[in-house]
Amino acid sequence: MKVLKFGGTSVGSAQRMKEVAKLITDGEQKIVVLSAMSGTTNTLVEISDYLYKKNPEGANEIINKLEAKYKQHVDELYSTDEYKQKTQEFIKAQFDYIRSYTKDIFTLFEEKVILAQGELISTNMVTNYLQEQGVNAVLLPALEYMRTDKNSEPDPIYIKEKLAAQLEMHPGAEIYITQGFICRNAYGEIDNLQRGGSDYTASLIGAAVNASEIQIWTDIDGMHDNDPRIVDKTTPVRQLHFEEAAELAYFGAKILHPTCVQPAKYANIPVRLLNTMEPTAPGTLISNDTEKGKIKAVAAKDNITAIKIKSGRMLLAYGFLRKVFEIFESYQTSIDMICTSEVGVSVSIDNTKHLNEILDDLKKYGTVTVDHDMCIICVVGDLEWENVGFEAKALDAMRDIPVRMISFGGSNYNISFLIRKEDKNKALQSLSDHLFNNK
Ligand code: ADP
Ligand code: ASP
Ligand code: MG
Repeated sequence: MKVLKFGGTSVGSAQRMKEVAKLITDGEQKIVVLSAMSGTTNTLVEISDYLYKKNPEGANEIINKLEAKYKQHVDELYSTDEYKQKTQEFIKAQFDYIRSYTKDIFTLFEEKVILAQGELISTNMVTNYLQEQGVNAVLLPALEYMRTDKNSEPDPIYIKEKLAAQLEMHPGAEIYITQGFICRNAYGEIDNLQRGGSDYTASLIGAAVNASEIQIWTDIDGMHDNDPRIVDKTTPVRQLHFEEAAELAYFGAKILHPTCVQPAKYANIPVRLLNTMEPTAPGTLISNDTEKGKIKAVAAKDNITAIKIKSGRMLLAYGFLRKVFEIFESYQTSIDMICTSEVGVSVSIDNTKHLNEILDDLKKYGTVTVDHDMCIICVVGDLEWENVGFEAKALDAMRDIPVRMISFGGSNYNISFLIRKEDKNKALQSLSDHLFNNK
């Protein structure tokens, strides 16, 4: 069985819901995970914000506006009065429920209940639409099987058992619709898997039912600005190893967050990224397979700061790196690239909030220099150390570009360069020519 997840934009209007319905009714049995309609979760956060601030009037105004929007969606979505009325009643009940929270004290618990409404409503709408169309679709309530433990981590054993029980109740159904994002915690309270958590839901379900594939359908048109600079646009990346995808995730690639796909990775279930706006395109398959000897993508990230600490004391000493790293840790600043020599270490960071304090502390251990406005260029592909030739090719491409740091060997899938921001385009072009076009 396949598990398909459709994001907020993919179910963002009545029209979009109809398109999703068309996509999923091919006669194959499947589980479909849905997000809230786009914008809804953000609006629910806003409502909660007013309630935290004890402003029920402000909250009610937004609640009423959101409810009016849903009324319109329902009018557009269904063709029969029966389904219009049935769905309208459900939505009204949910909004009345949201309104009931404007009268009392408001805490994190109440907020979680409010945030859950987006997915509860979208899945109800789509299930009803499919049923109106005569499709054998059933709604699997995520709150009955999706659960986190006392550490707020998903509980795979519970999920597997309870999901199986839910599926058994409707053995002949063609489509099982369910809510992404929402769950119950170890105490049985309504909770969620954090913003953007619907992908996580899909991955957890995929692992629980041992799916043949997990498909993440998203609106790629809406994600261009965050796309990694995959330079060779003419040949989109068709396949990635899970670790290649994880490397690219850092570059703001609206690829999946590595923690979201972990259950799929462990269960060895391939994850396919697909575009709702171009449903016949093959998309990108992420799996545990490495395409031997292949470079997949080149990505870049700006606004990087490089810091070098040089110290004679580092020579033959131990514990020096720990002291340096502890400084970054104490200012909650993560380090991205690291290069070391016997007498110095260079690191790169992208969060400069505490840069001055960090520099002050580092000066206790050595001479410190800083380079601003740098850029990380990352080559992702099969870069296992025993392969020969790729490092040379990549370095050759960088021949005319001043390189501040090079990092290789941290994983089998990456080589990174730190260069000046103004050299970025030239570097991307040259790497593309050398690695993809054999110039
Ligand atoms: P998709 O991933 O297909 O765009 P989702 O339903 O998964 O759709 O996400 C819906 C929207 O939720 C995203 O477009 C984004 O604006 C918002 N979102 C996702 N993750 C986060 C996050 N970590 N913080 C705030 N908003 C988020
Ligand atoms: N609706 C939730 C959000 O906007 C979860 C998701 O869409 O993945 O964050
Ligand atoms: Mg998402």
